[in-house]
Amino acid sequence: MQLTVDLHSHSGYSGGVGQVSLAGVAETMRKKGIDVFGTGDCLQPEWLAHLEKSLVEREAGLFALQDPPESNPGARFLLQSEIIITADVPSGGRKGVHTVLLFPSFAVAREAAAYLAKCEVKLNMGRPFLKCQDSADVAEKLCAICKIDASIMVIPAHVLTPQGIYGSDHPIAYLSDFYGDYNDQIRVVETGLSADPQVLALIPELDNRTLISNSDCHSPALNRVGREFTVLEVTQVSYEEIVTALYNRKIIHTGEFSPAEGRYFLTGHRSGKNGHTSEQFCYFSPDTAPVDGVCPICGKGLTIGVLQRALELSAIQGEPRTLQNVQPRQKAIYMVPLTEVIAAGLGVKNSSSNKVTQYFEAVINSFESEANLWIHAENEIEKQLAATVPNKVLAAILSIKRGDYTFDPLGYDGEYGELILDRKTPWFGNKIVKI
Ligand SMILES: [Zn+2]
Ligand SMILES: [Zn+2]
Repeated sequence: MQLTVDLHSHSGYSGGVGQVSLAGVAETMRKKGIDVFGTGDCLQPEWLAHLEKSLVEREAGLFALQDPPESNPGARFLLQSEIIITADVPSGGRKGVHTVLLFPSFAVAREAAAYLAKCEVKLNMGRPFLKCQDSADVAEKLCAICKIDASIMVIPAHVLTPQGIYGSDHPIAYLSDFYGDYNDQIRVVETGLSADPQVLALIPELDNRTLISNSDCHSPALNRVGREFTVLEVTQVSYEEIVTALYNRKIIHTGEFSPAEGRYFLTGHRSGKNGHTSEQFCYFSPDTAPVDGVCPICGKGLTIGVLQRALELSAIQGEPRTLQNVQPRQKAIYMVPLTEVIAAGLGVKNSSSNKVTQYFEAVINSFESEANLWIHAENEIEKQLAATVPNKVLAAILSIKRGDYTFDPLGYDGEYGELILDRKTPWFGNKIVKI
């Protein structure tokens, strides 16, 4: 059977738009087609207490709300946190690496929190810092955490972004440069919004690892929950089965945010940063980026994009690959959050306006969920929605389905790409400098 999971999120304790309501998340999960959702921040004592009070175990390691919304009594939660591990790296300096942890029970999460507290981790932050000396120390501490329970899972998060293991900040060449001997146990890595299985196929040492996609959302909004997800083949619904499916790459497909919309896709500096005025910005695709990595506007180091880093790593790991000659080893379905597509179709900026929400609900009534919409063929979508939504909304949905869209600009330096329908822009040959 299929299980759709989104296993990386955050509560209000990690910043964002206020505290996250689990009932609100459950309602959004139904509309987006997510079966199991990572709770986020489950090591934070107040959030952990709230989770423990609000959730009840339904299947081994999976939890339902005590008081679920009528619209989605089947919503399941899995205990999850992201931590930032810091350590000295061979290239010099200290690197911070975002890493997702999954836990099979409240007892195990509490034991892990107690161990981290002993390592002087300040757990009052939603995304706490685990300070380590070097890669050997990272391995020792991760092994100690996994000794608490063999089914704890450690997943390097959004691996190519500046905050991920391969990020350009204090760069490393191989996972083992940071995770040390623990590297052998890392079998699953998270693509992040700015990359997809095709981009990660550039990196030789990931060839035999599973790629998972998650939303990493900080809010229950319709364009946040499930903006990326992973569909697993499982024989039953349980925590253990999810972990096993991930270890064995039982991936039916991932739902992918277009990498070009992701906030770290291209290299650049956004406006308002490092003394740039609100008008000054620059972004570069890998073939046009300054070789010295220096911003032509402010003279400081550029934020290196995910695509450029992936190409660099393929060369560093001794096997120069290009996007044109790699075959992704997992199937992916590409999506743009439906509320943003509807807003673009209507020609409005606000993707949470009443009109947008009304048409979103109409589409969901026809297709059950957004995840289900995007797996249908173009003609099916056309047939089912022709009488349901205005032509311009239908046309927008169909152009996403056909791949007939781009972002202008593409995502760079913390800015999301801006959706443009019915136009294609190549990922390469982009060199825009506005001084
Ligand atoms: Zn992160
Ligand atoms: Zn600059």
